[in-house]
Amino acid sequence: MFVDCKSYANEILAKAKGRPGALAIIQVGDDPRSDVYVRGKERDCEKVGIDCNVFKLPRNADIFEIEGLIDQLNSDREYTGIIVQLPLPTYMPEDHICQRIALSKDVDGFNPQSDFHPCTPEGIVWLLKQLHGSLDGAEAVIVGRGKLVGAPLQKMLLDQNATVTACHSHTRNLKEHTKWADIVILATGKHMFDQSYFRTSLGRQTVIDAGITFDETGRLCGDLITEQIDHSNMNVTPVPGGVGLLTRAVLVAHTGGVNLI
Ligand code: NDP
Repeated sequence: MFVDCKSYANEILAKAKGRPGALAIIQVGDDPRSDVYVRGKERDCEKVGIDCNVFKLPRNADIFEIEGLIDQLNSDREYTGIIVQLPLPTYMPEDHICQRIALSKDVDGFNPQSDFHPCTPEGIVWLLKQLHGSLDGAEAVIVGRGKLVGAPLQKMLLDQNATVTACHSHTRNLKEHTKWADIVILATGKHMFDQSYFRTSLGRQTVIDAGITFDETGRLCGDLITEQIDHSNMNVTPVPGGVGLLTRAVLVAHTGGVNLI
């Protein structure tokens, strides 16, 4: 069964409704995929009455321009949140630039010292709590230890007292881990997980698909090969329309000053 992430995302957005706040999105260049993501964020802000302004810099902007803009927005009291739309052009050091955002306005939670958790893992933990109630003692397997999803999620699930197994590309017998866990979070960007990775009996599994990639036909998809999954024994988040919606909603909540966990 697919989890209705749209409803859950609306529940998160409702928490930000009516709260004062404004989001500044810095976008460099005209990448069409970034345009789609930025428009989605603008729409979510609009739904709850949070202002959202996009500051576009040309593709050949130099690093001083973007640093100057961040400094200006850091001291502008109108903005409660600032994000840099990634990816940046390859000559720009993403970590250095994102870490220039004031910690109190780093609503994407990129800086480990930020006042906010990173949005995607926070949305995942919040969703799991809605689906499972307490995560105390739950067996969770995370596949992927990347800095955006897998690595921060390990700590956040441990903080919920889940028993966490971190898997990655060197893990032997990956299927032995994914088959046994109550909760599996996929965060690899590899469209390769078919039914053979999951169990068919011994109770339902929850599978959170955080991956974003494209299949051989160019269609946006996640890590799961959903057509090859037996949905009767699993709760699965879809891609598109899954973790991405939650991530955007958490961003808006942060901008309104709301932390979900
Ligand atoms: P990375 O893309 O940096 O790393 C991928 C991870 O997957 C690595 O830890 C790698 O292992 C592991 N991996 C790759 N292949 C395999 C394999 N065959 N078996 C087991 N593990 C494997 O991670 P990120 O955290 O940056 O991103 C993960 C995914 O989440 C991406 O698809 C990204 O696009 C998506 N994403 C989605 C968001 C959303 O809003 N839905 C937001 C942010 C990211 P190793 O460490 O050994 O190399």
